[in-house]
Amino acid sequence: MITLAHVRVPQRKPFLWDYSAQPKESVSACNACGGTYWVTLADRDRYGFAVQTHCCYSCGLVFLSPRMTAEAYAEFYANTYRDLIAWYSDRPHDIVKGQERYAEKLMPILEAFVPEGAKTLLDIGGEPGICSERICEEWKLKGILIDPACGGNLLNRGLVGCKPWGQGIGLEAFETDKRFDLILMCQTVDHLLDLKGGLEKVRGLLTDNGIFWVDAVDWLYRLRQCGSVEGAVKIDHPYNLMEASFERLLWGVGLRKVRKVYQGPHIGYVLKKGDVGKVEPDSPATLSLLGEIRKVQASQKR
Ligand SMILES: [Zn+2]
Repeated sequence: MITLAHVRVPQRKPFLWDYSAQPKESVSACNACGGTYWVTLADRDRYGFAVQTHCCYSCGLVFLSPRMTAEAYAEFYANTYRDLIAWYSDRPHDIVKGQERYAEKLMPILEAFVPEGAKTLLDIGGEPGICSERICEEWKLKGILIDPACGGNLLNRGLVGCKPWGQGIGLEAFETDKRFDLILMCQTVDHLLDLKGGLEKVRGLLTDNGIFWVDAVDWLYRLRQCGSVEGAVKIDHPYNLMEASFERLLWGVGLRKVRKVYQGPHIGYVLKKGDVGKVEPDSPATLSLLGEIRKVQASQKR
């Protein structure tokens, strides 16, 4: 019998940024349901930063508190976020290739739902705009990109179909009379500070026949993969969504599912405007079956 030694990951150099010095605020009520009773799950994140994670007892929303203020997050996304991701993954973050691949997977999902005569696109959080540019090109759309990390050199990339809207604009600060036939929020929803308010705002920005694509890490899947709460949370996700809490939130703001997609640890939805809170959830039996499928997917070797 051969016993293999445990592989030790070499100790990385510390990341030179002081999380403890950033301005913070406490969360007083669950952003999704308003509940004030929650369970504290962990006091560290995957990077080792001292941050508490909680789970709302009423709706299952997993969130950080205290967390950085909106100003501190804006500064973080502009100057620190990309470097932190590269440090953690131990390789440069190739966002261009990543967004190209993402667009190629997303277009077949959206194809059947893009409304006839669609003209406009809004990409929320999709800096540097490779994905939205590709989608604008495919369906001849005029697009706008909003992202708190937008700015500097990114504005000079020469985007044609999808243009950045100012420098460093987040969804909260975005004001317009325009309405959009296609809105994208690609792996961004769990970065918002006002999750429910952000989704309500998106609903109001859709044309009557417009569609909205949103996807996020299924936190339960990530938890099963990581084997620890600490390994599955990070300061760049003030919220963590699971299938049930995600769908409850979408129903509550009047977004109706027309397609659901499992892609690795992510769950994505194609949505249309519906009546607020009037859509019935999936049956418990179906959700239980899908939960089993997710367990199998999470345990698959990559
Ligand atoms: Zn809640």
